[in-house]
Amino acid sequence: MSLAPTFDDVESAAARIAPYAARTPVMRSRVINEQLGAEVVFKCENFQRTGAFKFRGAVNALSQFSAEQRQAGVVAYSSGNHAQAVALAASIFDIPATIVMPHDAPAAKVAATKGYGGEVVSYDRYTEDREEIGRILAAERGLTLVPPYDHPHVIAGQGTAARELLEEVGDLDALFVPLGGGGLLSGTILSTRALSPNCELYGVEPEAGNDGQRSLRGGSIVHIDTPITIADGAQTQHLGTYTFDIIRRGVTDILTASDGELVEAMRTFASVMKVVVEPTGCLGFAAVRNHPNRVRGKRVGVIISGGNIDTDRLASLLGG
Ligand SMILES: *Cc1c(COP(=O)(O)O)cnc(C)c1O
Repeated sequence: MSLAPTFDDVESAAARIAPYAARTPVMRSRVINEQLGAEVVFKCENFQRTGAFKFRGAVNALSQFSAEQRQAGVVAYSSGNHAQAVALAASIFDIPATIVMPHDAPAAKVAATKGYGGEVVSYDRYTEDREEIGRILAAERGLTLVPPYDHPHVIAGQGTAARELLEEVGDLDALFVPLGGGGLLSGTILSTRALSPNCELYGVEPEAGNDGQRSLRGGSIVHIDTPITIADGAQTQHLGTYTFDIIRRGVTDILTASDGELVEAMRTFASVMKVVVEPTGCLGFAAVRNHPNRVRGKRVGVIISGGNIDTDRLASLLGG
């Protein structure tokens, strides 16, 4: 195993990705601040290239490939956003990309991945093991596997979003972060503990897949079946070895949000802030609304992690 990532690695990642990744906007809403009696700042990774923060980790990882690794190619498995991120990053560095995606991944995510030049291999997310498929492809074709969250370069890259946020807004009292496998949360922990050490940090999972919460309470990584939730970016079955170790030591708590609460958060983003956020990207804000007492009178950060949702899907969720 490589060394666990530190804030120094986040700083190096920030320099490495600067030519390629967007510095995403920080947005505020007077209506939302008044509703919550808090000052809320939203870090809008839905405006990142490929529509989610995952581009940060992918660029940081692929930019460190050796010449041989670049030539042989990269393989990644993902429900969508990591796939698109690796496919675009690979095209930037001229690296052939093979992406293992569930056959029921959102059509827009599959189309975007192919559009960036990635070769897509499908699997059944409820019966097949994507990690196994990725490992086999890596071994057979000599590809380098870039996992979606449990890798020091990926974690360091994801940490650059919170680093930008804190650099721009200064100290926060609390920060709410969507949680799947924990790459975003653990990177955020590295940045936040360095830049705003007293800030409370909350990871937020879909209620149907609260393996992270159970892992934190029980002290070891809990594995679950693929949870059924509209938060397709957080249908992970377990935290990683690196991510759990960082989260265990650095998180204040892990909270959950239901699918219904995610839809209401999506509606507020669309109607009040005029921004399109995918269900997984709503986890942080949904938890803020579930816990008004934790945020009242405070300066609160929320990471909006992504905005990739088919428009007909968006319409049916908001219209239903
Ligand atoms: C991947 C993803 C997450 C979860 O990130 P992890 O690093 O796996 O915890 C959250 N939101 C969106 C939009 C994602 O694509």
